[in-house]
This record gives sequence, C-alpha cells and structure tokens, in this order.
Amino acid sequence: MKITSAEFVMSNSNVAKCPNEPLPEYAFIGRSNVGKSSLINMLMDQKNLAKTSGRPGKTQLINHFKINKNWFLVDLPGYGYARVSKKDKKTFQKYITEYFLKRKQLVSAFVLVDIRHEPQPVDLEFMEWLGSHGIPFAIIFTKADKLKPGAIQNHVDAYLKKLLEGVWEETPPYFITSSSKHMGRKELLGYIEEINHQ
Ligand code: GDP
Repeated sequence: MKITSAEFVMSNSNVAKCPNEPLPEYAFIGRSNVGKSSLINMLMDQKNLAKTSGRPGKTQLINHFKINKNWFLVDLPGYGYARVSKKDKKTFQKYITEYFLKRKQLVSAFVLVDIRHEPQPVDLEFMEWLGSHGIPFAIIFTKADKLKPGAIQNHVDAYLKKLLEGVWEETPPYFITSSSKHMGRKELLGYIEEINHQ
C-alpha cells in the first residue's frame, strides 16, 4: 500500500465521540516505550505524525488518524506505565475497554511487544482479554534491529511458544519490525490493504 495521505483527525477519551465515518479501523497498542510512535511514523513515512497530536496528556487519549482517506489508524495510550496513578489507570482501562468492546469499525488490534523481551504478564493478559471478547489482533514485534539477524526468529519462536502454552490454540498473525531500519513496513501495510479489500 502506498501512503498518499495521513491526517490527524481527533483525540478523545470517549468512544461515542470518535469519528462516525464507517471506515475500517486498526488500533495500535502496547506497553509504554515499546516503540509505538516510532512505528506509526515509520509506517506513515512521517517524522512526527504520532507525536504531533501529542501536546502533553494527548498520549493518554484515543488518537484517530485518517489514512489515504479510506481507513483509520488509531493510536491508543501505552499501558503498564508505572507512574500513572491508580485512579488514572482505572479511567484509562474504562475507556480503552469501551473502545474495544463498542467500536464497530474496529477490524483488528495490533499489540506491540519488544522483540527482546520475554512475554510480559500485562501483554499476555491483554491478548487473552482481546481473545475472550472475540476481538481480532496481530502481534507486532518491535526493535528487531536490537538483535543479531540470526537471533530474531528464535526470539519470535520462543515468544509464540509461550503464547501457545497459555490459552491459545493457534498463533495470531505477527510482524517483525524495526522502525530505525524500516523493517516490516511493506508486510504490515500489505496486510492492512489485503483486509481492506476483502
Ligand atoms: P512509545 O512510547 O511506544 O510511543 O515508544 P517510542 O516510539 O517513543 O520509542 C521509545 C524508545 O524506543 C525511543 O527511545 C525510540 O528511539 C526507541 N525505539 C523505537 N523504535 C525503535 C526501533 O525500531 N529500534 C530501536 N533501536 N529503537 C527504537
């Protein structure tokens, strides 16, 4: 897929106020610092798209970007941030939960995980929660440039093996990416394009 336009549309914390155009939507989520903003900028070939909406606090909101005038990329807040207060965490969980449960346009979530790390409970719980509600998702492994090329697939295989030890019977689709090396861009955009044309 060639990216011809990528526009920031709005930020909010209320799913009822998200854009009411019936365009397919893909939501990006992961732990803070996983490389989500970098990945979104890399996918869209822009330096600051994911953060241009980012006046302080904006990263805690549901951010909609309209891509090629025919689909939405949704940048959701990073979870598992130690400095967030208990009260903020609860509010966060409430609107993110509502987003996933109520957003009819949502086609797939992309759960970002750092390729260097073992599966983290917070990620596994989140994927289980998505699965238990029948919400499709794919995994995006980030920062693949931090591993030697030969170690990349081993890390991925070990991660997926752990996933299968849990509640999963089959592995979700996955993508190996590096924003600094522009890796995985074609595959990920091709995947979205394919679903959009189904
Ligand atoms: P976010 O909090 O998930 O949006 O993460 P950011 O995109 O802000 O990235 C967090 C940190 O990881 C920053 O220091 C980035 O420079 C670094 N980072 C992000 N993506 C990559 C990548 O593909 N490779 C490497 N080596 N570092 C990355």
